[in-house]
Amino acid sequence: HEEPLFADVGGDIAVSFEFFPPKTEKMDAQLWDAIRTLEPLDPRFVSVTYGAGGSTRERTHATVARIQRETTLAAAAHLTCVEATREEIDQVAHEYWAAGVRHIVALRGDPPAEGARFVSHPGGYANAADLVAGLKKLHPFEISVAAYPECHPESVDKQADIDNLKRKIDAGANRAITQFFFSPEAYFRFRDAVAAAGITAEVVPGILPVSNVAQTRKFAAMCGATIPDWMDRLFEGLDDHPAARQLVAATIAAEMCRRLYAGGVKGFHFYTLNRAELAYAISHMLGVRGKKAEAVAAA
Ligand code: FAD
Repeated sequence: HEEPLFADVGGDIAVSFEFFPPKTEKMDAQLWDAIRTLEPLDPRFVSVTYGAGGSTRERTHATVARIQRETTLAAAAHLTCVEATREEIDQVAHEYWAAGVRHIVALRGDPPAEGARFVSHPGGYANAADLVAGLKKLHPFEISVAAYPECHPESVDKQADIDNLKRKIDAGANRAITQFFFSPEAYFRFRDAVAAAGITAEVVPGILPVSNVAQTRKFAAMCGATIPDWMDRLFEGLDDHPAARQLVAATIAAEMCRRLYAGGVKGFHFYTLNRAELAYAISHMLGVRGKKAEAVAAA
């Protein structure tokens, strides 16, 4: 008797997908293609990022509002504290509430100049915990916050990082979504430390399917994520083979999710980079079918 492959996953997994606001018409078309492809998987929410320094304020709002209006999806809006007064941020939050958006991913954000130290706006929210508390006073939003299995680069140590996560949850956040990582062990250690700190909120792993290591490395350096040597080896010599890189990317991410699932993880958040296929394939491997697909299969 042979065990079917991937028989150990599925049925009880919830996924969410993250997008960024498009800059051009072509990127807009690509985004909407991705949204429509992923929609039948019935994610628990999809989120749209907020550009550095609030540079995408209008585009983020327009994208989130359109998802909320035109699809069956629950849209979540990322919001940061960077370069804005409390009044300005509160106004954005009111507009989301009026547009039917009930979920905010509340972040501090990074300074607009790369490598600069974060300085809060004199009339603004000081950090993500402060923002969560402010949002909770405005409306009963569902709120997700950021977490860092490999520690946020500005935290003095891991304990300070977890204390900060606890402040965000205590301020009213409902769940944490992690920065991307490539070591399930690092995630499990972090989850244990979070539980030991008395945090009971879900810590949803943020999954970045990597098909371009060089690009990811640049990005990872800024946000305190490590690219392991084994990943370099798996992409060695594939620079001119984009299709093979996609397959490698899906395989790595699906295997990582499988290990996380084996360790009890039931929710996954995918950084889609506005492309559906990898997130779709990996979700599918994890047994995610969505209500509509299930209805079709049953009929
Ligand atoms: P915070 O939780 O406020 O923490 C920032 C740092 O300050 C930490 O090191 C913390 O320990 C320290 N700190 C906070 N409060 C205190 C205190 N009282 N005393 C001492 N130290 C303190 N960025 C964007 O610009 N737009 C996005 O849309 C976006 N989406 C993201 C989504 C996810 C899931 C993740 C993981 C990150 C995202 N980011 C985004 C990046 C994020 O803005 C940066 O990582 C930023 O540097 C930290 O944001 P935070 O919300 O974790 O900040």
